[in-house]
Amino acid sequence: MLKIKNLHASIDDKEILKGINLEINPGEVHAIMGPNGSGKSTLSSVIAGKEEFDMTQGEIVFEGEELSELDPEERAHKGIFLSFQYPIEIPGVSVTNFMKAAINAHRKANGQEDMRANEMLKLIKEKSEMLEIDRKFLSRSLNEGFSGGEKKRNEIFQMAVLEPKLAILDETDSGLDIDALKVVAKGVNKLRTKDNAVLLITHYQRLLNYIQPDVVHVMVDGKIVKTGGKELALELEEKGYEWLKPEQV
Ligand code: ADP
Ligand code: MG
Ligand code: MG
Repeated sequence: MLKIKNLHASIDDKEILKGINLEINPGEVHAIMGPNGSGKSTLSSVIAGKEEFDMTQGEIVFEGEELSELDPEERAHKGIFLSFQYPIEIPGVSVTNFMKAAINAHRKANGQEDMRANEMLKLIKEKSEMLEIDRKFLSRSLNEGFSGGEKKRNEIFQMAVLEPKLAILDETDSGLDIDALKVVAKGVNKLRTKDNAVLLITHYQRLLNYIQPDVVHVMVDGKIVKTGGKELALELEEKGYEWLKPEQV
């Protein structure tokens, strides 16, 4: 599904990603871990196509198509979802109405007509029930006054409704409590299918107690320095990252 080859990326002429290779197949959940500042968020931004980063070498191929010429919106319409680290607040636009607009924007970009209203309601009802989201939440203004847990719930709900082929979830270390982590884990587990894939970027080993990744990668200083199975996350929990830093290798 996703094939990244020798990816180098910079910001303001400072090289952040220094030759990333990564291959994700349908049905897989990959976790990327690593110390703060190693380039994990940069990788998710570059895959999503954020324009502040310059891809200087390598390729990102999604379902056989090179992505580098596509803008973030086009990538989203092809089925790449990036969770919003700091979601915008839109007073007066409800969670439901925002989702309706997003669904129809995707459909339009893929040459489809708007989803019929009853079909839309059914979809929103089905996904919100699956994720145990109550109706009151659906009518609230997008992100206005949302707690950390509610923002996560909204993010997972967006993912559920949009049904991306590849979901990239970048979990920052900023104030997520255990309940918010559980919201993320439960959502990811419920939405896992044999056709979609998840790239989970996390500072938290403990998130991986709730989501079993198929593959774990460790990123240090812009490179993937180690790849393994889910036992690698446990090893990191025990040993930290120091032993993987270049001076120690
Ligand atoms: P991680 O997510 O692993 O903590 P980041 O990708 O956020 O790492 O950051 C990697 C490096 O890139 C850091 O040195 C950071 O300071 C730098 N960086 C990230 N975003 C920017 C930016 N917008 N402008 C300048 N430097 C940045
Ligand atoms: Mg960081
Ligand atoms: Mg980060």
